[in-house]
Parts: sequence; C-alpha cells; structure tokens
Amino acid sequence: HKPIHIIGGGLAGSEAAWQAAQAGVPVVLHEMRPVRGTDAHKGDSLAELVCSNSFRSDDAQANAVGLLHAEMRLAGSLIMAAADSNQVPAGGALAVDRDGFSQAVTARLEAHPLITIAREEVAGLPPAEWDQAIIATGPLTAPSLAAAIQAETGADALAFFDAIAPIVHFDTIDMNKAWFQSRYDKVGPGGTGKDYINCPMDKEQYNAFVQALIDGGKTEFKEWEGTPYFDGCLPIEVMAERGVETLRHGPMKPMGLTNAHQPETKAYAVVQLRQDNALGTLYNMVGFQTKLKHAEQVRIFRMIPGLETAEFARLGGLHRNTYIHSPTLLDGSLQLKSRLGLRFAGQITGCEGYVESAAIGLLAGRFAAADRQNETPAVPPITTAFGALLNHITGGHIVSEDEPGKRSFQPMNVNFGLFPPVEAPKAVGKRLRGKDKIVAKRHAITSRALADCRTWLGLPPSEIISEAAE
Ligand code: FAD
Repeated sequence: HKPIHIIGGGLAGSEAAWQAAQAGVPVVLHEMRPVRGTDAHKGDSLAELVCSNSFRSDDAQANAVGLLHAEMRLAGSLIMAAADSNQVPAGGALAVDRDGFSQAVTARLEAHPLITIAREEVAGLPPAEWDQAIIATGPLTAPSLAAAIQAETGADALAFFDAIAPIVHFDTIDMNKAWFQSRYDKVGPGGTGKDYINCPMDKEQYNAFVQALIDGGKTEFKEWEGTPYFDGCLPIEVMAERGVETLRHGPMKPMGLTNAHQPETKAYAVVQLRQDNALGTLYNMVGFQTKLKHAEQVRIFRMIPGLETAEFARLGGLHRNTYIHSPTLLDGSLQLKSRLGLRFAGQITGCEGYVESAAIGLLAGRFAAADRQNETPAVPPITTAFGALLNHITGGHIVSEDEPGKRSFQPMNVNFGLFPPVEAPKAVGKRLRGKDKIVAKRHAITSRALADCRTWLGLPPSEIISEAAE
C-alpha cells in the first residue's frame, strides 16, 4: 500500500497513526516539533499534554468520558494503553505521569515497522500525491497551514477563537418557571415560534445577578492568546461592567416575550436558551460567552429562575482555538467534501479535550486505512460514545435562527446530551425519581453503548468473553 500521511503528532495524530498501522497500512507521521514549536507545547515528545495531566473520570458506567475510555480500550487505543501504564493516583479520575505517557506513545510509534516519523512542518495543504492524508494539527495549528486551510474552506469556516456559552441539559431546567417562546413568536426557517426557552427575572433578581457577574472570579487570557474581544461576542461579565442596563439591552432583553406562567407580569429581564442539538437534549444560553471561573459559573447561573438545579453539559469559555466548521465541510467519515481522501482529526474538528481528540484520531485512522484497502469505512452507531461525538462533529446540528443556512457549531466535550435518550428502566416495585432516575438513565445509555460498540468492532458480547476466560 501507499502510505497515509498524517500531519501533527499530538493526541489525535498519534492515535490515528497507530490505528492505521495496526490495520496493516503504512503511515508517515509529520510532526513539526522540535523544528518549530507552538505557544503551549514544551518538549518534542509525541502526544504531549499541554496542560492538565488528567484524562478525567474513568467511570464507564456513570460518566460519558469514562465510557469513551472504555470504548477506546476495546478498539485497541494506543493513547489509552499508554495512559493506563503510566497512571498516577487521582481518585476516580485517570491521571497520568505526563512525561512517562508521552515517552511511551513516542516509543511505541517509533518501534512500529509500518510507521515513519518525519520531524518537519507541513506548511500548506498536503500535496496531491498524498492521496490519503489526515490533518491533526490541533488548536495551535501552525499559521501557514491554517492559512491554507482557510483558503480551501472559506474565511468563515475556520475559527481562531472559541467563544463558548454554557450548555444545559434540558431535563434539568425547571419548566414550571421557564417557558418556550420565540421573541415576538417569530417563526424562523424550520422553527415553530416556540424555539427558545425563556427564564424571567424581576428587577431585584436582575440587579443581584449583574452584581454577581461583576464580583465573580474570572480566568485571565494567557499572554500569547491576546485579547480577542470583538463586537457581538463580548463576555457577559464585560458587558455587566459597562453599566447595569447593558445586559438588559443586550442578550437579556425582555421585549417580545410573555411569561406563560404569569402573563400579566412583565419580566424585567429574560435569559434565553436555544436548542443545541437535533435530539433536543441540550440548550445553550444565548449570548452568555464568559471567562468566569467554572465553579463561579455554576454558582451564578443557578441564580437564574428556572436554572436553580441546572446541570451543565459544558461551561462557557473564550480561548484561542483553531477549528473548522465541520458540519458543513466534512462528510460522515471526516473527509473534506471538497477534497476526498483528505481527513481532519482531533481538536481542529470541533471536539474538545485530550480524550475526545484522541478518539476522533482513532476513527480517522481507521477510516483512512479502510479507504486505502478499498473498503467502505464502518461508521460507529450514534448510540456509542464514538458515534455520539462523531455525530456532534459531522451532523446533527440545528439551523440557527440568527444565521440562516448556517448550523450552530461550537467545540464540545463528550457528554450524555449527545446520545439518543433511553427510557429509565423501571425500578422493581417503585418508580425512580430525581437523581436516581438520572443515574438509571445514564446506566442504560452506557450499557447500550458498550454492547453496540462491541458489535461495531466485531467483538463478541462481553458475557461470552468472561465465560471464555473462566
Ligand atoms: P495537539 O495535541 O496540539 O497536536 C497537534 C500537533 O500538531 C502538535 O504536536 C503540533 O506541534 C503539530 N503541528 C501543528 N501544526 C503543524 C504543521 N503545520 N506541521 C506539522 N505539525 C504541526 N484538553 C484537556 O483535556 N485538558 C486540558 O487540560 C487541556 N488544556 C489545554 C490547554 C491549552 C493551552 C490548549 C490550547 C488546549 C488544551 N486542551 C486541553 C484541549 C485539547 O485537548 C488539547 O489541545 C489536545 O492536545 C488536542 O489534541 P490534538 O491532537 O487535536 O492537538
């Protein structure tokens, strides 16, 4: 076989190289470090962890990222094998010795007979003779390659910062206080006039909320990130600091909305949430991008009537981050529609996190290897963590009312809101409520996911394996 060229030896590129080579296809892995560095990487090992040494929860039954760990182990992931053999104590989380981890990944890739590692910057799109290639250059993609991607995909399709508003699990919003309504009952494309969830505030609640935003603990930009404030995208706490009325005339304006629970009382301010995925399980807080610390966001946003017990699928943030508008640009197997054979993987596709980046690398490596062997890439079902994350990236986004024709798309970690819902199994003799019900639903989602992942990978069901082991 001709080799697959993988650009970027980070979390995604390393896993993609391993998967393709394990499938029997030669790989050339191009990594620019140490020839050229990034603002966050410090060394020259492959799969360097640029910040925390945690792969987050390892609980495959109750946590979506723990489930993704388990699925990656089933798929023979190099990143998970290196993490497991370099584990340091961290309670229920999987944390690693960062140097031991990166060295293990580097050593296994260097020793693989089908992998060649080229320490060089790829300064533009892959040349035409690299007919199968994967771009996995991450959130800090080198500028010349980023410019080439932008030229190929269009200026609007590549972002250099993410400005992320918090996302809430729908089933944790109190709909006895909030209500569905679009402003002025406007029916947009594909809309119903009831597309938003609205949370009302009176004057006292609003003033206290604005003060909490001003007083809340914030995170600072790193020096190399610059200060990426641009119009229409100011953090809410910056708007709050500009004057007490600013938010009431901006994202929290109450006009055109009538509280369905108290039609005679005019709300002083309203927080709106917009559906974030086709499943309707996630809602984002409109205009609420923020640099408040995560714990502060939870505390302050639970002051909003209707969100007192909200659970967040992700919290807000504003970071330097290079990523493409995958839902419009990529097909279901991560190929650029305008140039088949060229795939994207890792954080640049709009996933978020070490584990997620590696998982998308795992899929891209397998898909490219299948293509090279003239097979149709087998896409994981949406009921698996692999499939749910892939669906976040390549499909499943609702059309945004503000930008007709464009799908709303922000980077996201894997979370239970990305999975098709499962009915909570009825407890023997009693109905489950509240937290117990959520736990039961999560267990049902994760059992279904692991069984479907085994089927996707052609593995026998787990019971058969344990019988064989006895
Ligand atoms: P990377 O791991 O960054 O790999 C990309 C590789 O491509 C790099 O090795 C780079 O040198 C190389 N490269 C870039 N351009 C070229 C080129 N033109 N030619 C050749 N090689 C090139 N996630 C977490 O889960 N936990 C965290 O604590 C965390 N902290 C983060 C902190 C920062 C400052 C940033 C920017 C991101 C952080 N992330 C974190 C998010 C994300 O998980 C990581 O960035 C992750 O490493 C992404 O994996 P990746 O493979 O997509 O990119």
